[in-house]
Amino acid sequence: MSTILVVEDEPTLQQTLAHNLKKDGYKVYTAGDGEAALDLIRQHQPDLVVLDIMLPRLDGLTVCRLVRKDADIRHTPIIMLTARGTAGDKMVGLDSGADDYITKPFDLGEFMARVRAVLRRAPGQSTHMQMLESSDIRLDVTARRAFRGTEELHLSSKEFDLLAELMRNRGSVLSRDLILSRVWGYDYYGDSRTVDVHIRWLRQKIEEDPSNPRHIITVRGIGYRFEA
Ligand code: CA
Repeated sequence: MSTILVVEDEPTLQQTLAHNLKKDGYKVYTAGDGEAALDLIRQHQPDLVVLDIMLPRLDGLTVCRLVRKDADIRHTPIIMLTARGTAGDKMVGLDSGADDYITKPFDLGEFMARVRAVLRRAPGQSTHMQMLESSDIRLDVTARRAFRGTEELHLSSKEFDLLAELMRNRGSVLSRDLILSRVWGYDYYGDSRTVDVHIRWLRQKIEEDPSNPRHIITVRGIGYRFEA
């Protein structure tokens, strides 16, 4: 049974989300502010955090950044909630290390689909040990740790999944749609720009010169290839 923490200060929405998640068999914790959320994440290490951005005491973006900096909990998948829906807000949410992003008001069915998609990719569910290596990049898929040479890379959960997918298929071109369906899930509602944004962040973390990448190559009009 997966454990989900719902962080939302609006009582009706918090209860609605918690109720529907429980109905689907998840174990649910709730928090109404950012500080309480951080305490609960450290205490219970939930499989997923649903995190509102506008929160009392500590806002959701700060909570997300603090989670990503804490070695014990940094792989916790996070779905951000926000009232606004401009592209700029979306970038802010993803840039802070969130795995996915939902704009209020949202459809409950869509919300549950996103939850399932993120959990499907969550750490701890892989049953076989796996190591992916290509030149100086090394991924320990079981421990979900990434290295360039001896240096550990700090990747978000989605960045890790994306890099693993590219490395598993190294030498082959993967289209944006294929990447979206494999890394974000078939029921993901986002567009292929999401892939481009994550590729850009990944390059900043794994490439010596992100403007002249030698690992993740853009194949014009199609998608991306991890250079073997
Ligand atoms: Ca709020």
